[in-house]
Amino acid sequence: MNDLHSFSWYAARIKKHMPIEAFKPVPRRLLGGLTYLVITISCFFVIGLVELHPLINLGISIIIGCSFAGLGFLGHEILHGTVVRKSWLRDLLGAIAFWPLSTGPQLWRKWHNLNHHVHTQHDENDPDAWPTLERISKLKVFRWIYNLPLPIRAFFAFASLAVQFTAHSLKMFTVYVKEFKPRKQPEVWLQTILPWMTWIGLIFLIGFTKWLFAFLIPLLIANFIVMAYISTNHRLNPLTPVNDPLANSLTVTVPKWVDTIHFNFSYHTEHHLFPGMNPKYYPIVKQHIKTMWPERYHEMPMTQALIALWQTPRVYFEHNELIDPMNKNAYGSLGNKLDPKAILPRKLTDK
Ligand SMILES: [Zn+2]
Ligand SMILES: [Zn+2]
Repeated sequence: MNDLHSFSWYAARIKKHMPIEAFKPVPRRLLGGLTYLVITISCFFVIGLVELHPLINLGISIIIGCSFAGLGFLGHEILHGTVVRKSWLRDLLGAIAFWPLSTGPQLWRKWHNLNHHVHTQHDENDPDAWPTLERISKLKVFRWIYNLPLPIRAFFAFASLAVQFTAHSLKMFTVYVKEFKPRKQPEVWLQTILPWMTWIGLIFLIGFTKWLFAFLIPLLIANFIVMAYISTNHRLNPLTPVNDPLANSLTVTVPKWVDTIHFNFSYHTEHHLFPGMNPKYYPIVKQHIKTMWPERYHEMPMTQALIALWQTPRVYFEHNELIDPMNKNAYGSLGNKLDPKAILPRKLTDK
């Protein structure tokens, strides 16, 4: 854990090797979002106007869910300023892209840009970091959960990926809304309430059964897709006192076509080095990282990361250990004895 460097330390060393275009906003990336929007609205019309077999409706739900997730990835990028620079346009486009996930642009920028990116994997200040043993021992309500066997916890944890983004987003709203200046707060409230009003209003327009296929099932699918990435971004890595993306982030690999439809969201370590860069250039950043610091970089296929996530507990001990509070089995973390290909717990005393 010694020898950690901040993201700007790495960025300064790579930036000089990057073309200047990598840092320019690219409005052309909105075309992908427009495609997702057209697909989503067309699917709404089909579900709303045509009586179809439930299985066909379910197929359409999957298409809408994938589009919701794709729009979410683009929203993340827009709100980092990689698409347009004008702040009102950035927030408007970000609000549209995050509409299905009902996350307002002001809230997202505070939660994600100003806290998650600045304090990544800090045990107290990163709103997305998982708790330490010390912290959960104070939360009596949750203690019984950690007394369940790990495979059962893993099953429920994976099932909850289908709601985790929405649930966490609502929690973030309650955490951060108070931190906005009083005159800003109504806007932040509105940006959360308006999307929910439209989705609830849709029930009255098309009826409850069709609404399940048009919104609720797609929302669960979108949650699962975005959380499959978000849960593997940092949760196998240690907590770090210095925000070092090579130590505290993981880049997953997915087939090329998946990277295309998800706007290169898999390159998460690269994203933490350069959040404002056009993600099209992340493969070049990756090459530079692998040349300069190959022993520090963490990368693995998405499926392997998800399997490793299933096999390890989500509680930290002394920053570097993932520990099962039930039996005190320790698993290490990436860069700290955790081998994702052969996960073997040890007793803490064996350290
Ligand atoms: Zn992150
Ligand atoms: Zn980001």
